[in-house]
Amino acid sequence: MNMQQEKVVSFVNLKSQADKLEHGIQNAINRVIAHGRFIMGPEVFEFERKLAEYCGAKYAVTCSSGTDALLMALMAINLRPGDVVLTTPFSFIATAEVIALLGAVPVFVDIEPDTYNIDPEKLNKTISVLKGNKKKNVRCIIPVDIFGLPADFEKINEVAKSHGLHVIEDAAQGFGGSLKENKACHLSDIGTTSFFPAKPLGCYGDGGAIFTDDDKIHEKLVSIRIHGKGEGKYDNVRIGINGRLDTIQAAVLLEKLKIFDWELERRNVIAAYYRERLEGKVNCQQLNKGFQSAWAQFSFVSEQREMIMEKLDEKGIPWAVYYPKALHLQKAFSFLGYSKGDFPVSERVSETILSIPVHPYLSIESAEFISNTIISALCKR
Ligand SMILES: *Cc1c(COP(=O)(O)O)cnc(C)c1O
Repeated sequence: MNMQQEKVVSFVNLKSQADKLEHGIQNAINRVIAHGRFIMGPEVFEFERKLAEYCGAKYAVTCSSGTDALLMALMAINLRPGDVVLTTPFSFIATAEVIALLGAVPVFVDIEPDTYNIDPEKLNKTISVLKGNKKKNVRCIIPVDIFGLPADFEKINEVAKSHGLHVIEDAAQGFGGSLKENKACHLSDIGTTSFFPAKPLGCYGDGGAIFTDDDKIHEKLVSIRIHGKGEGKYDNVRIGINGRLDTIQAAVLLEKLKIFDWELERRNVIAAYYRERLEGKVNCQQLNKGFQSAWAQFSFVSEQREMIMEKLDEKGIPWAVYYPKALHLQKAFSFLGYSKGDFPVSERVSETILSIPVHPYLSIESAEFISNTIISALCKR
């Protein structure tokens, strides 16, 4: 093992990607500078067509971030103050933040211990209890494709249908994943994603998109994105936001989309290698039959997490903990009145979860070095 060479392992390698795409991206940015249509330029619409095609959705509406994508989706279903939205406490703050931002009430439902995604059975039970309380207006479910692995949308959509609820897929990490023949972002009524640089498909700044097959929702999204516009820019028919994706970001994304499937394949190769080496030693995120992850992260739980982190540090290998604190325990949500012990699975996973590098530019030699390091940490007891 050549240790010197291994010092260059990075958690997300945007530099190698930039080198691979260098000329294409430079030329694409230069074309935008030359035509000067920085807001809603032709690249935005071309990218939307390609995105919709990629995910098999009727419409893709690009926007300013993954957070705004969720916000716009909730606005498009006319979420009202006091309405209830069910979601997972094991996610990035944005998922639940947008619910509260609109004055609605996030109600958390615990996750499955092996996929870390929202538990459809607990979801059904929680909804039944809430529906028993006539004062609660339950409207929507936001499952998250955590670490790139789609939530169990077959079961979730069924639960939603039986209760007459909307389902918004938070696929901020999920772009590229799939469930059977359906692509992530298109696993329910509305899907949202993020183009934050470190996500599976990232741009050179902030960006996001919303996917739907519904003509009415699409019409609303396009309006909400530009200050609730009606027929024209100075005709405003509803309250909206400034939620546009920059033309330059669309141009960058068009280039990155060209190599996305190749990158996804590379992530799959690395993830398969880790699973083969590490399974049985740690508990890798479970891939059930028919599910394909986008591998935004490669994550596992281990009771020996601290020992593994120490050993990785010793060898200069980066790692990350997503997420060290479940959302119901965040100070920002203290007004919801949750306490420790309310969602024991999410709490336990946040105490034992660890993510290791899985980017497309990681060599198998590096993956081997990382695996060996983890295994050696576990042997040294
Ligand atoms: C990153 C992320 C978001 C927010 O996306 P931004 O583009 O950073 O606003 C929302 N939900 C999840 C699960 C995320 O990982």
